[in-house]
Amino acid sequence: EAVYKRIAAGEVVVNPAAVVKELMENSMDAGATAITVEIAQGGKELIRVTDNGVGIIAEDVPLAIQKHATSKISTLDDLDKIGTLGFRGEALSSIAAVSRLTIQTRTADSTEGTVLFISGEQGPEVSSAGLAEGTTVKVENLFYNIPARMKFLKNTARETVNVTSVVSKLIFANPHISIKYISNGKVIYHSPGDGSLQNAIIAVYGKDIAHKLTEADHAFGEIRVHGLLSQPTFLYKSTNYLCFFLNGRYVQSKNLQSAVLRGYGERLLRGHYPFSVLHIDLPLNRADINVHPGKLQVMLYDETDVLDAIEKTVRSALEINSA
Ligand code: ADP
Ligand code: MG
Repeated sequence: EAVYKRIAAGEVVVNPAAVVKELMENSMDAGATAITVEIAQGGKELIRVTDNGVGIIAEDVPLAIQKHATSKISTLDDLDKIGTLGFRGEALSSIAAVSRLTIQTRTADSTEGTVLFISGEQGPEVSSAGLAEGTTVKVENLFYNIPARMKFLKNTARETVNVTSVVSKLIFANPHISIKYISNGKVIYHSPGDGSLQNAIIAVYGKDIAHKLTEADHAFGEIRVHGLLSQPTFLYKSTNYLCFFLNGRYVQSKNLQSAVLRGYGERLLRGHYPFSVLHIDLPLNRADINVHPGKLQVMLYDETDVLDAIEKTVRSALEINSA
């Protein structure tokens, strides 16, 4: 049974980047306005996410690490309208099965905080302590009890790149949250959380990029497309710099990429691609985010409408800017 649990957990939690994403999304669900993410050795040794969100009340802390105990889905119908980021209630339980996990948390109306420690072979142990309001989740020695899984982790540099990429996407997705990202004691990103997408992009790519971006914002019925695009003279040789957020959630889609490229049309040099961060907002019942557990791939109802909206938004943003 324990072995089965560990294997299943390894499917939800595949690498440090996946852990970071789950923990940051929990902080966002908790209404945090400031999140600090620290990793050591690409997250293999340590991942620590601290937030100023609502915290977890003492009685609920042991439940947080139980599978599905806290699942927010009560009826199948709810699957259609998932607004919060977490809903399967298996991230913390999965992480707990394959690491040494510590949760420190305090809500606004309790005077003392709660500390919970659990590892593959030990715990949970719960105690109380004086803590700041909010939650810190610390994950140490990921996969220490699954050598086969550990072997599949990439070298530290590669795992760091993967975490960095997840954090940058979450910074773009959440300009209203101040996100500080520290790797091996060094601050890599620190976004202001002032609501400006441009400032979020600057936090990741530096000030110079701001001069090269054009604003886009268009609504087509219930579909709104907004964000920032590079001018056609500022191009990359890869499609890695095209990012999409569907209702605030990072998604990957070749079709969405193609729609942006169609918007640029003849302006693009062959083999060159723009930089763009586009938010697509549409009613929850028009997107199916529950296609893949990683939640990167999405299914869109009326996808052609969305693709059309993207193409037109891009084209008109570029036209306005060049006029
Ligand atoms: P899910 O997010 O899908 O509900 P998780 O396993 O990620 O499941 O988290 C379990 C529960 O623990 C959450 O539903 C939430 O109640 C609580 N929780 C986890 N992280 C935090 C946090 N940073 N702040 C407040 N509550 C949290
Ligand atoms: Mg979650």
